[in-house]
Amino acid sequence: MSTETFDVVIVGAGSVGLPTAAFLAEQGIKPLVIDQFASPGQGSNKAAIGGIRATHSTAAKIHLCLESLRVFSTWEEMHGDPIEWAQGGYTFVAYREEEERALKALLMIQQAAGLNISWLSRQEMLALVPALAPEGLRGGTYSPEDGSASPMMSARAFYRRAVENGAQFRFNERVTGLIRRRGMVVGIRTDKGGYATETVINASGAWAKAVSGFAGLDVPVVPDSHEAGITEPVAPFLKPMVVDIRPAAGSKNYYFYQHKPGGIVFCITPEPAIVGTDRRETSEYLPMIARRMVGLMPKLANAKVRRTWRGLYPMTPDGSPIIGWAQGLEGYIHAVGMCGQGYMLGPGVGKLLTRMLTKAEHPADAATLHELRPGRAFGGVEALK
Ligand SMILES: Cc1cc2nc3c(=O)[nH]c(=O)nc-3n(C[C@H](O)[C@H](O)[C@H](O)COP(=O)(O)OP(=O)(O)OC[C@H]3O[C@@H](n4cnc5c(N)ncnc54)[C@H](O)[C@@H]3O)c2cc1C
Repeated sequence: MSTETFDVVIVGAGSVGLPTAAFLAEQGIKPLVIDQFASPGQGSNKAAIGGIRATHSTAAKIHLCLESLRVFSTWEEMHGDPIEWAQGGYTFVAYREEEERALKALLMIQQAAGLNISWLSRQEMLALVPALAPEGLRGGTYSPEDGSASPMMSARAFYRRAVENGAQFRFNERVTGLIRRRGMVVGIRTDKGGYATETVINASGAWAKAVSGFAGLDVPVVPDSHEAGITEPVAPFLKPMVVDIRPAAGSKNYYFYQHKPGGIVFCITPEPAIVGTDRRETSEYLPMIARRMVGLMPKLANAKVRRTWRGLYPMTPDGSPIIGWAQGLEGYIHAVGMCGQGYMLGPGVGKLLTRMLTKAEHPADAATLHELRPGRAFGGVEALK
C-alpha cells in the first residue's frame, strides 16, 4: 500500500463528492477524492437534468436545498465559473382534486420550514405558464426561488475549486476495501494500491451498498433507472420547471423546463420502478413522456427531440438521503441515498459534512442529522421524492 496519507478520503467524484471536496479544501482540510470513472461527474451527476429546488416535504431536505440554492445562485458571481444558473422557480400543477389537496397539505410544512412557496389560482398559473393546457387546470404551487443549472458545468466548477485549494483526485481508480483497526478507519484499498486516512466519506451514489459493504456496513440504497431527454433549442417561452404528479400507465410524475441555452429538458419517473444499474436508453421512454408532455402543453408537439439518455437514482426506502457518522466504525461518514435529488442536495450536503468535520455545526444541523441518520427506521415516505 502507498504511504500517502490524507486528512479525508471521499469515495466518489459526483454530485455530493465534488462540492464536499471543494468546501473541505476551502477550510484547509485537503481530501483525496477517488472515482472509478475517467473524470468528474461521470456517475449519476451527468444524467441529472439540472433541476434545483428546495420544494420538498421534509424539513431536512428543505434546509439542505436552501443552502444548495445559495451556493448555486451565487457561484458565478463569487468564483467566476459559468454554470448556467437560472432562477425560473418550480411549479407543481394540479388538474384534479387529489393533487390540489396533496399539494396544499404540503404547503404548510414547506412554509414552516422557511420556503418561499404559495398557491397560484388557475388564472395566476396560466399567467405564469401560458402554454399549459387550460382544460381542467385548478392551479398549483409556485416556489420562485428554485431554479436550474448545468450538472456538468457545476461539476467542473466544484472540481476546479477543490483542486485550486489543494484537494487531490484519482480517476480510473476503484475503491475495493476499507482498512479498519480496533473499530476505527485507518485506510482505504483500491485496485491500484491504497491510502492511509482516519476519515472516509462514502459518496458513491448508486454504488453505495457495495462500498458500504467494504466497511462491513449495510445501507438500504438500491439503484433504479430513469430516462431523460432534451429538445433542440427554441426561443424562451417557459420560465419555471413544471412538475405533473398525476400517475398514468407506466409512469408516476414527470417534469420538464427550458434550460438557459433554450432546449426543453425532461424526465419521467417509471412505474413500476426499473430496479438495477442498466444505463441503456429504451424505445418506450420517448413516446410515453412525449404523449404526457404534449397533453399538458400542446405547443411542445412542434419541438424536435435531440437525444435521450438514462441514468441511476440511488434510492432509499423513504426517499430521503442517509447522512451521518457510522455507528460502530469511527471515522466513517455516510453521504448516500440521494434518490432523484442528489444534484440539488450536493452543495448543501457538502456544507453540512464540512461543518461536521470542522466541528462547526449550526444549531439546526442536529435536527437535519437526526432526520437523515443512518440507523433510522425508514418508515415514512418523502412525498416529493
Ligand atoms: C435522468 C435523471 C435525471 C435527474 N435529474 C435530477 C435533477 O434534475 N436534479 C437533481 O437534484 N437530481 C437529479 N437526478 C438525480 C441525481 O443525478 C443523483 O441523485 C445524484 O447524481 C447522486 O449523486 P451522488 O454524488 O450520490 O452520486 P454520483 O453523482 O453518481 O457520484 C458517485 C460517484 O461514486 C463513484 N463510485 C462508486 N463506487 C465507486 C468505487 N468503488 N470506487 C470509486 N468510485 C466509485 C461513481 O463512479 C460516481 O462517479 C437525476 C437522475 C437521473 C438519472
